[in-house]
Amino acid sequence: MLKLIKVINFINGEYLEPINKNYIDNYNPASGEVYSKIANSDKNDVDLAYISAKNALPEWSNKTIQERAEYLYKIADILESRIDEFAEAESYDQGKPISLAKSMDITRSIHNFRFFAGAILHHEETSSNFNKNFLNYTSRKPLGVVGLISPWNLPLYLLTWKIAPAIACGNTVICKPSEFTSMTAFMLGDVLIKANLPKGVCNIIMGTGSNVGNEIVSHPKIPAISFTGGTKTGQTIASITAPHFKKLSLELGGKNPNIIFNDANLDDCINTTIRSSFLNQGEICLCGSRIFVQENIYDEFLERFIKATENLIVGDPKNVDTNIGAIVSEQHLNKIKSYIDIAEKEKCEILYGGDKPNLNKQFEKGYFIKPTIIKSNNNKCRLMQEEIFGPVVTITKFKEENDVIEMANDIDYGLSATIWTENLSRAHRISELLDCGTVWVNNWMTRDLKVPFGGTKNSGIGREGGKHSIDFYTEIKNICIKY
Ligand code: NAD
Repeated sequence: MLKLIKVINFINGEYLEPINKNYIDNYNPASGEVYSKIANSDKNDVDLAYISAKNALPEWSNKTIQERAEYLYKIADILESRIDEFAEAESYDQGKPISLAKSMDITRSIHNFRFFAGAILHHEETSSNFNKNFLNYTSRKPLGVVGLISPWNLPLYLLTWKIAPAIACGNTVICKPSEFTSMTAFMLGDVLIKANLPKGVCNIIMGTGSNVGNEIVSHPKIPAISFTGGTKTGQTIASITAPHFKKLSLELGGKNPNIIFNDANLDDCINTTIRSSFLNQGEICLCGSRIFVQENIYDEFLERFIKATENLIVGDPKNVDTNIGAIVSEQHLNKIKSYIDIAEKEKCEILYGGDKPNLNKQFEKGYFIKPTIIKSNNNKCRLMQEEIFGPVVTITKFKEENDVIEMANDIDYGLSATIWTENLSRAHRISELLDCGTVWVNNWMTRDLKVPFGGTKNSGIGREGGKHSIDFYTEIKNICIKY
């Protein structure tokens, strides 16, 4: 029998098997077959990683900003030289189309390192002499050994969104990728070796959330956690860290409105709405999964949107023409299907999709589902209130501006929103009224890494990006001097 690749830990600059020698199966979502083994690490591996990160901290935090930035640039360059290899691995491990893994995931991972190298080099502190006898100025220190936990939808993209600013600020880190998608985090270890990153600065531990994740979060000497994942997990982490006053950044779930007014540029809107509904199989926290369309253009929008959805190619992630690949896991596919199954009960109508696409035999056991459009008139129903996190959108007609604002805000989530209108006053007015962290007007998911990123309500606490990440990954101190 073929020996399966073992995805093992990266501690103190070396690849190490988990101390308990336990492994979990790793599946290829397109074939449904086990193709590698992931270390099922536990407390002992986290403790080892902590010692390594703690020992590396004094030297790393004392390096000049220029020196640390140079390492980040080097990591970016090496990653870039291996972009095809990483894109192939990400697509194979996660199920997403290879073209997307290359153009979005790995490209953005490279950019994360370059961006935060630049951000730290260009960062300036503040000073104030409000009273001529006194000078106030700020200084920053890294936090120490920081815990970084990431989800499965954008595996390397979101992990490096945390690693890059954390180490740029002089921290050392213990990372945990999702147990469903650990492959590119495992490969990153080799890039860090080639970049000569000092041993122990970045440690990567593979394993489950209840085991490794929980150990990192509850570790008494880890003062800060940056977590991206589900809202329920975020609640658990908040309850564990609160009594220790750990610094916490939580980027959680979303159920974002996409509001389309009568005066929208429908060509642009439909092209972008196809992406904001189904990109990455709809497994992006920012997807606009609740579509609201104003009544005068509802019929035209629907007809054109369904047509455009029919044209999407669902299937082999390795095919460069594929638009929608496989869902990450069988468990997640079942969750998506369970929502489609309740459509009738919720008096919603499936307008397109809802079933498995016809694919070659090799994908028979793969986790595929067609992009699905569901008509709903009830903003309170589960399909419109709960995060499905798959290629499933609801579509709802609205009459007046006030009605749609009320529906858009009447939800526990508050991550992002999209508005389509050519009316500038309306765009500004509604952007202010929507209760969420980001509003896109006539575009979607255009990311400038400087801007604050995060959510309100159950979508999380804190902001990351540019100076907001520097704020999170450092402790700021004010010093007041009397002349
Ligand atoms: P998840 O919460 O199940 O897992 C996320 C990570 O947390 C994984 O690494 C997991 O192993 C770990 N984990 C699980 N239980 C833990 C525990 N008790 N203690 C510590 N760590 C634990 O989320 P997921 O299913 O991997 O990801 C999907 C979710 O992530 C969706 O809700 C999506 O909206 C959200 N997400 C949010 C953003 C954002 O920026 N707001 C971005 C991407 C994904």
